[in-house]
Amino acid sequence: MRQAFNGVTIELLRGDITDQPDIDAIINAANAELQIGGGVAGAIHRAAGPGLAEECAPLAPISPGECVLTAGHELPNPHVLHCLGPVYGVDEPSDTYLADCYRNALRIADDAGLTSVAFPAISTGAFGYPLEPATEVALTTIVHETANLTSVGLVRLVLFSPRDLEVHEQVLDRLAS
Ligand code: ADP
Repeated sequence: MRQAFNGVTIELLRGDITDQPDIDAIINAANAELQIGGGVAGAIHRAAGPGLAEECAPLAPISPGECVLTAGHELPNPHVLHCLGPVYGVDEPSDTYLADCYRNALRIADDAGLTSVAFPAISTGAFGYPLEPATEVALTTIVHETANLTSVGLVRLVLFSPRDLEVHEQVLDRLAS
């Protein structure tokens, strides 16, 4: 599913965040130490090779809502934006921190002159953020931020499961109408 807001295309698809070769920067659902972990971070670091963890080491630790930009190393993407999502119920207010992730990632990408980014569903795995409210925060923040983007023209959300995709489609449908 694709929908344009302020000239920016928001695209939802099922897939693997490490397999988005047409995208300038993929977003990592990082840990504070910016090292290889489980879920998205594990998949990204495995695909990128050890050079990514080396580049990340002096940039860590980061705080909830913060994002940092690195190269993509052996990934098909030239860049990775590492965002630390909130641990649900621990890093409060979780909705503010989650919105900060999406907003900061988009602003950094735009300031760097990138044209396309791909996000996973930040915080909805190991960090325990329930899918529906996380989707509301993610999509309302992205849609709102489209008004400020001058370089980024494609924002893709790469969802791992059919249910994740379905919930995102329902929310995006509603925001478009
Ligand atoms: P967090 O620690 O921020 O919760 P996780 O990596 O544990 O991040 O999970 C975030 C979301 O990404 C979950 O919905 C998970 O199912 C999904 N996910 C895990 N691996 C991948 C992948 N390779 N590509 C896209 N999404 C993924």
